[in-house]
Amino acid sequence: AKKAGRGQYRFFDQSLNLKDVEEFHLEQSFAEALRNREFVLHYQPQVCLDSMEVIGYEALVRWHHPEFGLLFPDRFIPMAENSGFVIPLGMEVLRLACAQIAQWKVDNVPVRPVAVNVSPIQLAQQEFCRDVINMIHQHGLKTCHLELEITETAMLDAKAVESLHSLKAAGVKLSLDDFGTGYSGFAHLEAVPVDKLKIDRSLIAKICNSHDDSPIVSSTIILAKRMDLKVVAEGVETREQVVHLKVAGCDIAQGYHLSRPMPPEDVPGFLRTFAEA
Ligand code: C2E
Ligand code: CA
Ligand code: CA
Ligand code: CA
Repeated sequence: AKKAGRGQYRFFDQSLNLKDVEEFHLEQSFAEALRNREFVLHYQPQVCLDSMEVIGYEALVRWHHPEFGLLFPDRFIPMAENSGFVIPLGMEVLRLACAQIAQWKVDNVPVRPVAVNVSPIQLAQQEFCRDVINMIHQHGLKTCHLELEITETAMLDAKAVESLHSLKAAGVKLSLDDFGTGYSGFAHLEAVPVDKLKIDRSLIAKICNSHDDSPIVSSTIILAKRMDLKVVAEGVETREQVVHLKVAGCDIAQGYHLSRPMPPEDVPGFLRTFAEA
């Protein structure tokens, strides 16, 4: 269908066509999904490599779609960013995380900071800092209960960077996500006032044994230490990677080897078995 017009291209290419229809459909249902509370958070433990204790969680959004079932963020976050829907969705994610921490307090589940992913589109919002702090206080929490994970910091303007400084000054910890990818590297470290650096899982995947076969990972850890930053390794899938990271001085690990992301009701049971292991 090479010389066909644009419309015909789509007409003949079934898969593209279906994808477009599905995307359109998803976009249409965003607002309703928000009203119906179809978005939920799963929590993935972050483990301190010294004590092997759970010291926090990353909140990862999922969409319980009435027709399509459980949708992962890669299916809808890019679309939500393009349509601007990521702004109300981001507020819903913050609300869910704060409500969950408050609930864990009530249930006597040990409370640890929850890290929430934030889109650069959200950060560009004038009121972002105020909205985050209000949300924390509305749930009777302290600013140290919430952390924000940011990426693509190159996209941030002066206002957004100022907003990050205000959040940090208020006690909200910031992590630079996906470190070591094109979106997140050394240049970004100077631009934003982060407390933690999360090494992208593409770099962690290169660690195969306990020898130093990944100089980029070990150098990143050394650099982070020099800058007084905590280092989190993401996508840790094997025991060998845990050993390697520990030896290299990495502070915190997160990944399937330690735990998959889980619905909040599974967290208390997980904490019991993890402590025994
Ligand atoms: P991310 O922030 O880099 O999150 C880590 C992703 O790696 C998550 O995928 C997580 O489930 C997955 N993961 C964790 N451990 C392992 C492992 O050992 N191996 C492998 N292969 N993967 C692992 P998920 O939940 O599908 O999220 C994908 C991306 O969507 C996130 O990447 C983040 O950029 C974005 N995202 C998730 N939740 C939110 C949100 O609430 N707001 C925004 N704006 N973005 C979000
Ligand atoms: Ca993240
Ligand atoms: Ca990542
Ligand atoms: Ca990411």
